[in-house]
Amino acid sequence: MPHDDPDHPHALLPPDPALRVKALETILTRKGLIDPAALDEIIDTYQNKIGPQNGARVVAKAWIDPDFRKALLKDATPVVADLGFYGRQGEHIVAVENTPDLHNMVVCTLCSCYPWPLLGIPPGWYKSDAYRARAVREPRKVLAEFGVTLPSETAVRVWDSTAEIRYLVLPMRPAGTEGMGEVDLAALVTRDSMIGTGLPKVPS
Ligand code: FE
Repeated sequence: MPHDDPDHPHALLPPDPALRVKALETILTRKGLIDPAALDEIIDTYQNKIGPQNGARVVAKAWIDPDFRKALLKDATPVVADLGFYGRQGEHIVAVENTPDLHNMVVCTLCSCYPWPLLGIPPGWYKSDAYRARAVREPRKVLAEFGVTLPSETAVRVWDSTAEIRYLVLPMRPAGTEGMGEVDLAALVTRDSMIGTGLPKVPS
Protein backbone atom coordinates (compact mmCIF):
# COMPACT_ATOMS: atom_id res chain seq x y z
CA MET A 1 0.00 0.00 0.00
CA PRO A 2 1.48 3.35 -0.94
CA HIS A 3 0.45 5.04 2.33
CA ASP A 4 2.52 2.51 4.28
CA ASP A 5 5.67 3.67 2.55
CA PRO A 6 7.61 5.77 5.15
CA ASP A 7 9.58 7.49 2.38
CA HIS A 8 6.41 8.84 0.78
CA PRO A 9 4.14 9.97 3.60
CA HIS A 10 2.04 12.03 1.20
CA ALA A 11 1.66 9.31 -1.39
CA LEU A 12 -2.11 9.35 -0.97
CA LEU A 13 -2.29 12.93 -2.25
CA PRO A 14 -2.54 13.36 -5.99
CA PRO A 15 0.91 14.36 -7.28
CA ASP A 16 -0.27 16.89 -9.84
CA PRO A 17 -0.97 20.43 -8.48
CA ALA A 18 -4.13 20.62 -10.60
CA LEU A 19 -5.40 17.43 -8.99
CA ARG A 20 -4.64 18.78 -5.54
CA VAL A 21 -6.57 21.94 -6.31
CA LYS A 22 -9.46 19.83 -7.59
CA ALA A 23 -9.38 17.74 -4.41
CA LEU A 24 -9.42 20.86 -2.23
CA GLU A 25 -12.24 22.36 -4.28
CA THR A 26 -14.27 19.15 -3.89
CA ILE A 27 -13.82 19.11 -0.10
CA LEU A 28 -14.66 22.80 0.29
CA THR A 29 -17.72 22.43 -1.95
CA ARG A 30 -18.97 19.40 0.01
CA LYS A 31 -18.58 21.31 3.24
CA GLY A 32 -20.58 24.13 1.68
CA LEU A 33 -17.74 26.60 2.09
CA ILE A 34 -17.51 27.58 -1.57
CA ASP A 35 -19.83 27.75 -4.55
CA PRO A 36 -18.13 26.19 -7.60
CA ALA A 37 -20.10 28.40 -10.01
CA ALA A 38 -18.87 31.53 -8.24
CA LEU A 39 -15.34 30.16 -8.35
CA ASP A 40 -15.57 29.54 -12.11
CA GLU A 41 -16.84 33.08 -12.58
CA ILE A 42 -13.88 34.55 -10.67
CA ILE A 43 -11.37 32.47 -12.63
CA ASP A 44 -12.99 33.39 -15.95
CA THR A 45 -12.96 37.07 -15.01
CA TYR A 46 -9.26 37.17 -14.21
CA GLN A 47 -8.26 34.90 -17.09
CA ASN A 48 -10.32 36.44 -19.89
CA LYS A 49 -11.85 39.77 -18.93
CA ILE A 50 -9.07 41.36 -16.91
CA GLY A 51 -5.58 41.41 -18.31
CA PRO A 52 -2.73 43.61 -19.51
CA GLN A 53 -5.04 45.17 -22.12
CA ASN A 54 -6.48 47.26 -19.26
CA GLY A 55 -3.10 48.63 -18.23
CA ALA A 56 -2.21 49.18 -21.89
CA ARG A 57 -5.25 51.41 -22.27
CA VAL A 58 -4.13 53.49 -19.30
CA VAL A 59 -0.60 53.85 -20.68
CA ALA A 60 -1.80 54.81 -24.18
CA LYS A 61 -4.12 57.42 -22.71
CA ALA A 62 -1.28 58.85 -20.62
CA TRP A 63 0.87 59.10 -23.76
CA ILE A 64 -1.64 61.25 -25.61
CA ASP A 65 -3.36 63.17 -22.82
CA PRO A 66 -0.98 65.30 -20.66
CA ASP A 67 -3.66 66.11 -18.08
CA PHE A 68 -4.52 62.43 -17.67
CA ARG A 69 -0.81 61.59 -17.34
CA LYS A 70 -0.35 64.25 -14.67
CA ALA A 71 -3.33 63.03 -12.67
CA LEU A 72 -2.21 59.40 -13.06
CA LEU A 73 1.25 60.12 -11.69
CA LYS A 74 -0.18 62.19 -8.85
CA ASP A 75 -2.72 59.61 -7.63
CA ALA A 76 -3.37 56.68 -9.94
CA THR A 77 -6.02 54.82 -7.96
CA PRO A 78 -9.03 57.11 -8.61
CA VAL A 79 -7.85 57.82 -12.17
CA VAL A 80 -7.82 54.16 -13.20
CA ALA A 81 -11.01 53.49 -11.20
CA ASP A 82 -12.70 56.09 -13.41
CA LEU A 83 -11.89 53.86 -16.38
CA GLY A 84 -13.49 50.94 -14.55
CA PHE A 85 -10.25 49.34 -13.35
CA TYR A 86 -10.61 48.65 -9.66
CA GLY A 87 -11.29 45.72 -7.38
CA ARG A 88 -9.35 43.12 -5.55
CA GLN A 89 -5.55 43.48 -5.56
CA GLY A 90 -5.90 46.98 -6.93
CA GLU A 91 -6.85 48.98 -3.89
CA HIS A 92 -3.88 51.33 -4.04
CA ILE A 93 -2.13 51.77 -7.39
CA VAL A 94 0.95 53.92 -7.88
CA ALA A 95 2.15 54.79 -11.38
CA VAL A 96 5.87 55.34 -11.89
CA GLU A 97 7.16 56.97 -15.05
CA ASN A 98 10.15 55.90 -17.12
CA THR A 99 12.33 58.70 -18.47
CA PRO A 100 15.67 58.74 -20.32
CA ASP A 101 17.29 59.12 -16.87
CA LEU A 102 15.28 56.55 -14.94
CA HIS A 103 13.90 53.09 -15.63
CA ASN A 104 11.44 51.61 -13.15
CA MET A 105 11.03 47.93 -12.46
CA VAL A 106 8.57 46.19 -10.14
CA VAL A 107 8.94 43.13 -7.96
CA CYS A 108 7.28 41.71 -4.89
CA THR A 109 10.15 40.38 -2.82
CA LEU A 110 7.79 38.89 -0.24
CA CYS A 111 5.29 37.07 -2.46
CA SER A 112 3.59 38.14 -5.70
CA CYS A 113 1.66 41.39 -5.13
CA TYR A 114 0.60 42.76 -8.50
CA PRO A 115 -2.01 45.24 -9.82
CA TRP A 116 -4.62 42.67 -10.88
CA PRO A 117 -7.26 45.08 -12.27
CA LEU A 118 -4.66 46.53 -14.65
CA LEU A 119 -2.49 43.54 -15.53
CA GLY A 120 -4.52 40.44 -14.68
CA ILE A 121 -2.88 37.44 -13.02
CA PRO A 122 0.90 37.69 -12.54
CA PRO A 123 3.09 35.56 -14.83
CA GLY A 124 4.88 32.55 -13.34
CA TRP A 125 8.31 34.18 -13.42
CA TYR A 126 7.03 37.14 -11.38
CA LYS A 127 6.24 34.72 -8.56
CA SER A 128 9.51 32.78 -8.84
CA ASP A 129 12.13 32.84 -6.06
CA ALA A 130 14.79 33.72 -8.62
CA TYR A 131 13.07 36.87 -9.90
CA ARG A 132 12.06 38.03 -6.43
CA ALA A 133 15.61 37.73 -5.12
CA ARG A 134 17.55 38.86 -8.18
CA ALA A 135 15.42 41.83 -9.30
CA VAL A 136 16.69 43.76 -6.29
CA ARG A 137 20.25 42.44 -6.22
CA GLU A 138 21.14 42.59 -9.90
CA PRO A 139 18.37 44.39 -11.80
CA ARG A 140 20.48 45.15 -14.88
CA LYS A 141 21.43 41.50 -15.26
CA VAL A 142 17.80 40.46 -14.90
CA LEU A 143 16.78 43.10 -17.45
CA ALA A 144 19.40 41.81 -19.87
CA GLU A 145 17.91 38.32 -19.56
CA PHE A 146 14.56 39.82 -20.53
CA GLY A 147 16.29 41.35 -23.55
CA VAL A 148 16.35 44.89 -22.16
CA THR A 149 19.65 46.74 -22.31
CA LEU A 150 19.51 50.31 -21.07
CA PRO A 151 21.99 53.10 -21.75
CA SER A 152 24.54 53.28 -18.91
CA GLU A 153 23.33 56.77 -17.97
CA THR A 154 19.82 55.44 -17.26
CA ALA A 155 19.42 54.60 -13.57
CA VAL A 156 17.28 51.63 -12.56
CA ARG A 157 14.90 51.92 -9.65
CA VAL A 158 13.28 48.77 -8.29
CA TRP A 159 9.94 49.10 -6.51
CA ASP A 160 8.88 46.46 -4.00
CA SER A 161 5.13 45.84 -4.22
CA THR A 162 3.21 45.11 -1.09
CA ALA A 163 -0.35 44.24 -0.23
CA GLU A 164 -0.89 47.99 0.26
CA ILE A 165 0.80 49.42 -2.83
CA ARG A 166 0.90 47.97 -6.34
CA TYR A 167 2.91 49.67 -9.04
CA LEU A 168 2.26 50.30 -12.71
CA VAL A 169 5.23 51.31 -14.82
CA LEU A 170 4.45 54.01 -17.36
CA PRO A 171 6.93 53.20 -20.14
CA MET A 172 8.31 55.82 -22.50
CA ARG A 173 6.36 56.36 -25.68
CA PRO A 174 8.33 54.79 -28.54
CA ALA A 175 9.73 57.00 -31.29
CA GLY A 176 7.84 56.97 -34.57
CA THR A 177 4.41 56.89 -32.93
CA GLU A 178 3.54 60.54 -33.52
CA GLY A 179 0.00 60.89 -34.75
CA MET A 180 -1.03 57.38 -33.66
CA GLY A 181 -4.35 57.03 -31.86
CA GLU A 182 -5.06 55.50 -28.47
CA VAL A 183 -6.09 52.07 -29.78
CA ASP A 184 -2.99 51.66 -31.97
CA LEU A 185 -0.74 52.92 -29.20
CA ALA A 186 -2.27 50.51 -26.67
CA ALA A 187 -1.35 47.62 -29.00
CA LEU A 188 2.33 48.55 -28.53
CA VAL A 189 2.17 48.34 -24.73
CA THR A 190 3.25 44.92 -23.54
CA ARG A 191 2.59 43.43 -20.12
CA ASP A 192 6.31 43.32 -19.35
CA SER A 193 6.73 46.99 -20.26
CA MET A 194 4.27 47.80 -17.47
CA ILE A 195 6.24 45.67 -14.98
CA GLY A 196 9.48 47.22 -16.16
CA THR A 197 11.04 44.01 -17.48
CA GLY A 198 10.28 44.96 -21.06
CA LEU A 199 9.90 47.91 -23.39
CA PRO A 200 6.92 48.80 -25.57
CA LYS A 201 6.89 47.44 -29.09
CA VAL A 202 8.15 49.70 -31.84
CA PRO A 203 5.67 50.36 -34.68
CA SER A 204 6.60 48.40 -37.77
FE1 FE B 1 3.27 40.02 -2.61
